[in-house]
Amino acid sequence: MIKQIDFSKYSSLKIGTTLDVLIINEIDKYENYQIIGKANNLLISNTPKKPLAILSKNFDYIKIEDNFLKIGGATPTGKIFNFCKANNIKNFEFVGKLPGCLGGMIKMNAGMKSYEIFNNLVSIKTYQNEIEKENIDYGYRYCNIDEIIYEATFNIEFGFDYQLLDELEKMRLNQPKGHSAGSCFKNPPNNFAGRLLENVGLKGYKINGIGFSDIHANFLINYENATFEDAISMIDLAKNRVFEEFGVKLQAEIQIF
Ligand SMILES: Cc1cc2nc3c(=O)[nH]c(=O)nc-3n(C[C@H](O)[C@H](O)[C@H](O)COP(=O)(O)OP(=O)(O)OC[C@H]3O[C@@H](n4cnc5c(N)ncnc54)[C@H](O)[C@@H]3O)c2cc1C
Repeated sequence: MIKQIDFSKYSSLKIGTTLDVLIINEIDKYENYQIIGKANNLLISNTPKKPLAILSKNFDYIKIEDNFLKIGGATPTGKIFNFCKANNIKNFEFVGKLPGCLGGMIKMNAGMKSYEIFNNLVSIKTYQNEIEKENIDYGYRYCNIDEIIYEATFNIEFGFDYQLLDELEKMRLNQPKGHSAGSCFKNPPNNFAGRLLENVGLKGYKINGIGFSDIHANFLINYENATFEDAISMIDLAKNRVFEEFGVKLQAEIQIF
């Protein structure tokens, strides 16, 4: 089944046009498709290289099975957070602060500080394979899985941590508001993308309705009707300036399709 999704409404950056997206109801290969989740880390052009696909509600579930947590790829982060809180499960406190769904979180190894989704991961289910964490190459906002993630299994530890939740909430207090995809660039080793952007004069810099926040320079904000091209120009400008000034190659955290 094909569904039309208007990315100027669906994506957190509110950039894009209406595109056909294949709804995946059952596990299969779909190797010519580009899987997407809730588009909180995406910048989608009007002509993506591959046709897009998204998991249906069939993959929106969370359950305890044989003392492990099993979560479907389309399960929203809010549902994961609520389930863990209700069942007194720890290590998922940070998940409630990150918009998205499980598949997107795993692909990005999403997290806050040292709390990352891979920390308690046991394995993921792809087409025909159950891949153990030991066999996955992963790191900061990265994993090498290029297949569709249908489900993931996690270890369970009990004791939901309300104090940690409080700390995470405080960390979010000065996060810029507005349409963004969270951090635009990954932090380079031993450095901060936000600091580099600020040092090349891009904090608060805005053109064509898009710019880097004056609260946190690493947040690219769509202030008003920015296009894919406007966003790409801004990303390129930042990469060039930081490279010219500091010789550092910034890597986009936002996935561009
Ligand atoms: C305001 C804001 C704050 C944020 N703060 C943080 C933060 O603190 N830390 C952090 O890590 N992130 C942060 N993010 C980014 C975002 O929350 C995460 O990257 C999240 O995991 C994206 O999930 P998604 O479902 O929206 O994925 P999408 O944006 O739709 O996709 C992201 C990537 O995951 C892949 N993907 C999606 N589903 C699947 C699947 N089923 N199988 C395989 N690959 C899949 C896509 O192909 C793409 O490469 C923030 C975003 C916003 C808007």
